[in-house]
Amino acid sequence: MTLLANPNLTKASPLEERIASTHRGMAYWAGTGPGGTTCGECSHFKLKRGLPEGYCMLRLPGAKKARTDADAFPAATASCRHFKAS
Ligand code: SF4
Repeated sequence: MTLLANPNLTKASPLEERIASTHRGMAYWAGTGPGGTTCGECSHFKLKRGLPEGYCMLRLPGAKKARTDADAFPAATASCRHFKAS
């Protein structure tokens, strides 16, 4: 079964938008950092060589230590509340 998405039918709630913009590997919800800043500008972010994506290196208590390619996300992602200017 295929679901048809029509943006005119319903408007996503702020929570749905936040969930959709947050990537696996982030330390917290995207868009909760200082306005207009991105993960690429954060001192916790490490770019993958030659790519516009990378990893969040901030590890919170209880977080897993092993990092996989699935944890990489775009540097242009809106920052989270743990943002620290580099
Ligand atoms: S803003 Fe910084 S601490 Fe937050 S997810 Fe992005 S790189 Fe990680």
